[in-house]
Amino acid sequence: MADCIFCKIAAGEIPSTKVYEDGQVVAFKDLEPQAPVHVLVIPKAHIASAKEITPENSAVVAHIFEVIAKIADELGLENGFRVINNCGEDGMQSVQHLHFHLLGQKKMGWPPFPQD
Ligand code: 5GP
Ligand code: ZN
Repeated sequence: MADCIFCKIAAGEIPSTKVYEDGQVVAFKDLEPQAPVHVLVIPKAHIASAKEITPENSAVVAHIFEVIAKIADELGLENGFRVINNCGEDGMQSVQHLHFHLLGQKKMGWPPFPQD
């Protein structure tokens, strides 16, 4: 996708701090971290959002979760972590390339919307 910033990060055309890369996925530090560990894990192939996951492209999502487990181990998140996918307008997705936020080294809140 020509104008997709995460496609460009995956291709190395926009700099990022990569923590993992293989043939299918890239993981890199979020520009505006919301926790001491905040990594984005993306497929190299452009998938616009979680709404676009199909039987044909879903294998990469399973692989992403294998990578998340590996990164979490390497980054010392043995006490746990949170994985978030924001999808679409209501989900507050701001970059239209599928990505999973891996957040850790912080005690998370639950439920997520205590003000509701
Ligand atoms: P979303 O809101 O779509 O779920 O998450 C997009 C995330 O991408 C945000 O947390 C934002 O900080 C991050 N982000 C946006 N542009 C860039 C960039 O150019 N580089 C990096 N490393 N992160 C970015
Ligand atoms: Zn893309």
